[in-house]
Amino acid sequence: MTAAPNEATGDGDPAPADPLAVPVGRLPGIGPVRARRLLALGVRTVRDMLWVRPRRHEDRRERTGAPWAAGEARAMRLSIESSRLRRWGWRRSLLDAAAVADGGTSVRLRWFNMPYLAQRITPGARVWVFGKLKSARGTWSMDNPEYELEADDADPVHRDRIVPVYPLSGHVPQRVFRSAVAGALATLPPHTRPPDPRLDGHGTWTWAIRALHFPQTLSEAEVARKRLALEEFLEWQIAMALRRTANRQPPSPPISAAPSILSRVLANAGFEPTGAQRRAIAEISRDLAAGAPMNRLLQGDVGSGKTLVAAAAMAQVAAAGRSCALMAPTELLARQHARTLGRLLAGIPADVLLLTAGARPETPRTQPAVWVGTHALFQERLQLPGLGLIVIDEQHRFGVGQRARLRAKADSPHLLVMSATPIPRTLALTLYGDLDISILDERPPGRMPPVTWVRPPARANAIWDFAKTKADEGRQVFVVFPTIGHPTARDMRSLESDAAAIRERLHPHRIAVAHGRMSPEERDAAMADFASGKAPVLLATTLVEVGVDVPGAAVMIVEHAERFGLAQLHQMRGRVGRGGEPSWCILICRGASDAAKRRLDALVRHDDGFKIAEIDFQARGAGELLGTAQSGHAPCRMGNLRTDAALILRARDMARDIIAEDPALDTPAHAQLAAAARALLDRLGSGASDPA
Ligand code: ADP
Ligand code: MG
Repeated sequence: MTAAPNEATGDGDPAPADPLAVPVGRLPGIGPVRARRLLALGVRTVRDMLWVRPRRHEDRRERTGAPWAAGEARAMRLSIESSRLRRWGWRRSLLDAAAVADGGTSVRLRWFNMPYLAQRITPGARVWVFGKLKSARGTWSMDNPEYELEADDADPVHRDRIVPVYPLSGHVPQRVFRSAVAGALATLPPHTRPPDPRLDGHGTWTWAIRALHFPQTLSEAEVARKRLALEEFLEWQIAMALRRTANRQPPSPPISAAPSILSRVLANAGFEPTGAQRRAIAEISRDLAAGAPMNRLLQGDVGSGKTLVAAAAMAQVAAAGRSCALMAPTELLARQHARTLGRLLAGIPADVLLLTAGARPETPRTQPAVWVGTHALFQERLQLPGLGLIVIDEQHRFGVGQRARLRAKADSPHLLVMSATPIPRTLALTLYGDLDISILDERPPGRMPPVTWVRPPARANAIWDFAKTKADEGRQVFVVFPTIGHPTARDMRSLESDAAAIRERLHPHRIAVAHGRMSPEERDAAMADFASGKAPVLLATTLVEVGVDVPGAAVMIVEHAERFGLAQLHQMRGRVGRGGEPSWCILICRGASDAAKRRLDALVRHDDGFKIAEIDFQARGAGELLGTAQSGHAPCRMGNLRTDAALILRARDMARDIIAEDPALDTPAHAQLAAAARALLDRLGSGASDPA
C-alpha cells in the first residue's frame, strides 16, 4: 500500500508488539470511517477501547423457565409467524409482527419507523429480541425491541449473555462498539500483563478486563472493576510517591526557627493565634528546618486564618535572607494580600511587592523580597532571584502544571499551598498524595456564624428592605450575581440587568461595582470604597468568592444561588461574620425545583466547611468541587473517588510498602507499575489540564 500512514486507522504502521497498542482500525468491523468516529471518543488504540468502562450491563440471558411479567426487560428467542408493514405520511411506518416464543406463548412485536426491517423480519425467521414486555388484554407485546437474526451471527456477541452498554454519545452504535470490544478482547494473549501477586489476588489483569466488559454475572463486573480500579489507584499513589521523592531533591539549606521573628509577626497581627494556627506554624517551621524542600498543603475553612500562617512562614524565610512569592487566583485578592502582608511583615527586612498583569514591580530596595501576584508570577521570562518559598493561595484554582512551573523558577524552593475547600480525606490523599497536610480546624474566637436563609425571588422586597436597614446601621452588604451582562435565558438575572433596580431600592446608599470586565484599578477603587464603608454596598460577580476580607460586612446576598456549588456558596458566606457582629447570608433561589431548594438547605443546616464539601462531593463529584484544573487527571477511569474510599486507602498502603522496599522501582517485579506511574507523571507535568 502506498497511501500515507493514517493516524486514525493505523494503516501503514508496522504491527506493534503490544496487543494493547494496536490501532482500533485494525479490528474487524472497524473501517476508516468508524475509526475516525471512535477518535472523537478518545479511542485510538485497543487500550483506549478497553478502558471505556461500560455505563451499565444488560442481562440478555434467556430465562426460559421464569414466568413472564409486564414491565420487565427480557431476552427471548422467537419464531416470526407473520409480519406487515404499514406506511403513512413521509417517513412514518409501523412494522407489526406476530411471533411465537419457544415456550409457545404468542408475542406481538412492533417497530416504528424502521421500514427496512420488513426485509429481515419475515415469516419463518428465527430472531432474538430484547426489550420491555407489555401486556394488554391478555396479549403480550414488545415495542421497538433490539433484535438479532439467529442466522446472522456465528459468534453471539449481543445475545444470550450479559452485554455491556457504553457511554458513546451516539458517535458509534452500541452494537458496533460492543463487537469491536469483543474482537479486541479476543486478540489478547492469556497473560497480557506479567503476573503481579499483589494485585492478582483479586484476579489477573486479563481476567478483569474481560469480565469488566463481558461478565458471567452482574456482580462479577463490579469485582473486575475494583481489581482494575485498585491498579489505577496504585499507579497514581506510586506516581505521587515518586514526585514526593523528587520534590525533596536537591536539599535546601535549613532555615532554623526564629522565635523573635515569629513574635514580631504575631505582635503585628494584634490577636492571639488559635491552637490550630500554632500547630500549623510549628509544622511548617519543622519543614523549613529539615534541610529538604517543604511540600505542604494548608487546609482550612474560610476565615480560619490561613494568611497569618503563610505570613509566619514567609517571615522566617525572609529573615534567613531568601525571597518569597505568594500567588493568588485573582488580582483583587493579590492586592489585598499585599496590603495584609505589608502590615504583618512590618519590621521584617523584606519589601512586599505587588506583581500582577496590571502592575510592574519596582525593583526591591532590599533583598530578600516578598512578591505577591497572580499567574503573572509564572511567566517564563520573569526572574525571581533568590526565591526560597512559594505560597499558593486557593490552590484548587491552579493546575498541577502551574505549580510545577512556578517551582522551576528556583532551586529547591519550599512550597506551601493553601486551600479553603476542605476536601474529604480520601480525596486529599489522592489528589494531594505528594503533599504533607496541615489542617486549620478551629475558628478564631468570637465569631458568630452567619444566619443563612434560602428565599424565593417573591421575597425580594423584604430582602432589599433588610439590606437597606443594615446599610442604614453602617454595616456592609455584598450582592453577588453569577453573570455580568445580558442574560441569555428569559428568567435569568444578571448584575447589569438588576443594577439600576438595586440602586433605587437602596437609595441613598452608594453602591460599588466590581466585576471581571473592569480594569484592575477600577476594581481596586471599588473594593477600597466598599472596605472603607464609603460605599456600604458591593455589587459583584464571584470575584468575591475567594478570600476577600472586609471585617464589617454583615449581609451576603447571592442571586441565582441554585447556579453555584455548595462549597462555592460556603466560600461566599465566609465573606461575612468576620467581625464578631451578627451576620446574614441570603440565598435567592430561582430554581423552580424542590431539589434545588433542598440542596441549598444543606447550607442552612451546616456551618462546617468539611461537612459541606463532603455533601457537595457526594452530589456532584470531584470535578465540580475542585474544578477541572485540579481534578482533570484524577484516577477515575475505573475508580470512583466517591465510593472507592477503601480501595484508595489500600492502594496507598500498598504504594508505601512498595516504595519502602524498592525506592527507585528498579526491580523487574515493579517494571510495569513504574512505567505506568512515570507515564502518568509525564501527563501531569505537561500541565495539559491547566486553564491558563
Ligand atoms: P482565610 O483562612 O479564609 O484566608 P484569613 O486569613 O483571611 O482567613 O483570616 C480571616 C480573618 O480572621 C482576618 O480578618 C484575620 O485578620 C482574622 N484572624 C485570623 N486569625 C485570627 C485569630 N487567631 N484571632 C482573631 N482573628 C483572626
Ligand atoms: Mg484566604
